[in-house]
Amino acid sequence: MDWPWYIGASLAGMVGVSLLAWSLFADRSRGRLRCPRCWYQIAPRVETLSITCPECGRSVAKFSHLRRTHRRWRWALVAVCTCVIASALGAAPAVRRSGWARYAPTTVLILAYSHADSPADEVIKQLDSRFKINENWGVVESVNLRPWQETLLAKQCAAVLRDESAGKKMRNHALGLLVALGPRSLPAIDELIATIEANGEYEMYSALRAIQAIAPQGRRAIPALIAVLTRPGAQDEYYTDTAVDALGAYIPAPAEAVEPLLDLMQRKMRTYSSESLKDSIVRTLGRIGPEAIAALPYLFEQIKDTAPLTRAVHVESIGLIDPLHAESRRLIFDGLLHAEVHVRAASAEITRRHPQLLGPSLERLTTDLQSESSAVRLAAARALSSLGPGAAPARDLLVVACADENRSVRLFAVEALWSLAETEPTAAARLQSLAADPDVVVARAARRRLPR
Ligand SMILES: [Zn+2]
Repeated sequence: MDWPWYIGASLAGMVGVSLLAWSLFADRSRGRLRCPRCWYQIAPRVETLSITCPECGRSVAKFSHLRRTHRRWRWALVAVCTCVIASALGAAPAVRRSGWARYAPTTVLILAYSHADSPADEVIKQLDSRFKINENWGVVESVNLRPWQETLLAKQCAAVLRDESAGKKMRNHALGLLVALGPRSLPAIDELIATIEANGEYEMYSALRAIQAIAPQGRRAIPALIAVLTRPGAQDEYYTDTAVDALGAYIPAPAEAVEPLLDLMQRKMRTYSSESLKDSIVRTLGRIGPEAIAALPYLFEQIKDTAPLTRAVHVESIGLIDPLHAESRRLIFDGLLHAEVHVRAASAEITRRHPQLLGPSLERLTTDLQSESSAVRLAAARALSSLGPGAAPARDLLVVACADENRSVRLFAVEALWSLAETEPTAAARLQSLAADPDVVVARAARRRLPR
């Protein structure tokens, strides 16, 4: 039954509005001249510059002040309060039906968060509905609040994780929010570490993901992450990848992880995810950099029989750990000649960064580009095209290669010249003339690459 509320609301509203109008506008001057303090009516003849009220002694500076409207401010305040009550009465039926949370500001909901008992609570449902939610999983994906509100929410989540009486569902909800909060969950780092150290696989997985999002801050989580790697059976757990990736997210990645990572890499892995776990380990070792030198022999050994994508990850990490080691140099140069584009890209990236690698590589590639064998010329042209602007010293030979009898060599030469065209006028000119090449495919490639 709503109508008693609405009748109450309209009555209070009418009273409030009339009272407000009366208190502010009812007692106007209407030609009378009155003291602005005690409202005593002063004789209308008096029009001198300085007037003193015969009743209260107030001196009035301006004649116009005598014509003021008498406003009753206290009654106006009472009227405003009545209007507020009226609107509260009017909103009451809707609030009773769908809860107060719907009408509460987000900050109030955040403050109420840690007092909720379960995710089914009205406060949490309402809070969730204000975030971006993944449609398939119903999981909060991102939280778009002001920075201070996000920090406040992270603290509230931390309070839920600390609360021993909080239910499993409530804890999982808090962990989900912390993952969505990303780097802003830093205030909850200690609670996240405690969650990893306690058990419960699902909770641990969420906590690991939240820590990964916080890194490179929150380095004090590192020992807990390493402890995850050294658990028995860690090689077969789905959350181990996340722990390894989280370690790799610190800049620089922690050197104390080298030993445990190597141990983990050598354990026999059974699950389908073992390839991705291996990739994660190798990537994280690379991010540790020169301090992971102990891993180098294992990477050299392992790279022999890996799939192309994993090979690219290996080359990248070898390049980060010690690119100038003789075996590293060989592997990186081989990577440049590799048929797979990811391996070439990883190798070219390292080669470009190190002049000690770039010089000798260019020397060998330019020799190869003049080889008798078209397969060798092709590999060289392809490698030079991967090097981008780094291939500038080979520009003249690339121009020659544009007339190669092998079409694929010509295409890669066009590609390589294109990345030089912005800074090298000769390369741009050569591309221009290739646009009229008798070979349609080459001509089209050149035209597509011409600087506009
Ligand atoms: Zn007066």
